[in-house]
Amino acid sequence: MTLEIGINLAYIVSAVMFIFGLKMLSSPASARRGNLLSSLGMLVAIAATLLQVVSFQWIIVGCAVGAIIGFLSARLIAMTSMPEMVALLNGFGGIASLLVGWAVYHNLAVTEGSSPDTITTASIFLSVLIGGVTFSGSLIAWAKLKEVMSGKPILFFGQHIVNGLLVIGTFTAGVYFCMDPLTGLGYQIFIATIVVATLFGILAVIPIGGADMPVVISLMNSYSGLAACAAGFVIRNNVLIVSGALVGASGIILTAIMCKAMNRSLSNVLFSGFGSASSAKGKEVEGEVKPLTPQDAYYILEAASSVVFVPGYGMAVAQAQHVVRELGELLEKNDCEVTYAIHPVAGRMPGHMNVLLAEANVPYDQLVEMDDINPIIETIDVAIVIGANDVVNPAAREDESSPIYGMPIINVDKARTVFVLKRGMGAGFAGIQNALFFGDNTRMIFGNAKTTIQGLVDEFKN
Ligand code: NDP
Repeated sequence: MTLEIGINLAYIVSAVMFIFGLKMLSSPASARRGNLLSSLGMLVAIAATLLQVVSFQWIIVGCAVGAIIGFLSARLIAMTSMPEMVALLNGFGGIASLLVGWAVYHNLAVTEGSSPDTITTASIFLSVLIGGVTFSGSLIAWAKLKEVMSGKPILFFGQHIVNGLLVIGTFTAGVYFCMDPLTGLGYQIFIATIVVATLFGILAVIPIGGADMPVVISLMNSYSGLAACAAGFVIRNNVLIVSGALVGASGIILTAIMCKAMNRSLSNVLFSGFGSASSAKGKEVEGEVKPLTPQDAYYILEAASSVVFVPGYGMAVAQAQHVVRELGELLEKNDCEVTYAIHPVAGRMPGHMNVLLAEANVPYDQLVEMDDINPIIETIDVAIVIGANDVVNPAAREDESSPIYGMPIINVDKARTVFVLKRGMGAGFAGIQNALFFGDNTRMIFGNAKTTIQGLVDEFKN
């Protein structure tokens, strides 16, 4: 009894640590401590759970294998490949919940032959169903991001009808299974649920374009939490229920934030086949592009008293964050006020730019959010756009036929001068033209962003 109370108290402590850890993740200044706090919470939860274990043999093997794989992948993975890794981790979470549900059901149905209560039966069904969808859906998301399979939306005639029939079939099977889990078709329905859930995960993700995968991954993250929550009910583990619910809730909140920042509904992301050949491209843009060399750009920067860096996906590709910070410091020494404006969906994963700039030790107090920079952007001497495209595209404000119309952007076109650093005239994620590149106050500095910024740094140093 005393041990049980102690374990539940430890679970409450770890749940509180998870909640405060999550809260701290909302600011770059406290995010690292938040991560650490949540990890400690997980350590407490694991330690308390191990106190209930009867045989350690397989647990030790599992912990050792898991820890080695986790440690190596966290060390070796490139920051730009983080979405792929998160996709795989979500998939593993899904399959773990599926296996827990399956193991408990198998024990009850085959070994013990005793019928579980309705809550346990429903939880078994949900952990297998959501776990299966999360597993296969996450693997497809991983394959699309990794370009193991085509990132293009895969659409076929009657797709929505097939998906709808699968949902209705699964729901019916769920009701039947909950009513009669052991006798009759119980085990067959259970196996059919695993197959259908896995198939449904595949069919739900293939029509979504590769570039929308981060939103899908965030959604899958939420599902993996819900599956874990259901598994928590199956094995009556309070901390699994709480942590699963926290992951489920935070994943869906993040999904909603990402959709809002792209001005798209979740159903548009999931069902529109964004990025397919038939997607809208907006108005044709014409005008003259005015290229500039880093040497000429230096003279303008040297005279500037305020500069805002606006990083995007290209900065991640070029890994230019360290030289960007170096240039920022040189500008500051030159009595220039330097800020870094971050769009919520710049890059390819939530917080992508924050992570890169933090890695380069850019001071947090120099980071400004889109809503704070836009009202004062007209007073900025030079906006330096580093490999960003869609998040600074004025079509989002002005062109109603554009697929990104209505998406909030950083209004760099309103700064006194804009430098756009990119390799050529290539489009961004949305695959559309950008009128910013033809603006009167815009100068294009072509080349790899890192090389260009390094050139500017060298000019300052010389
Ligand atoms: P974009 O994808 O719009 O543009 C990136 C630009 O970077 C390209 O136009 C490319 O031009 C340039 N680039 C690529 N490599 C380099 C390089 N080595 N050096 C210099 N430039 C380079 O990026 P944004 O960050 O502006 O926008 C992000 C987009 O991704 C948005 O549309 C957003 O909705 C979407 N998205 C974001 C998610 C997130 O969580 N952050 C999730 C899902 C989607 P060029 O080839 O000419 O060099």
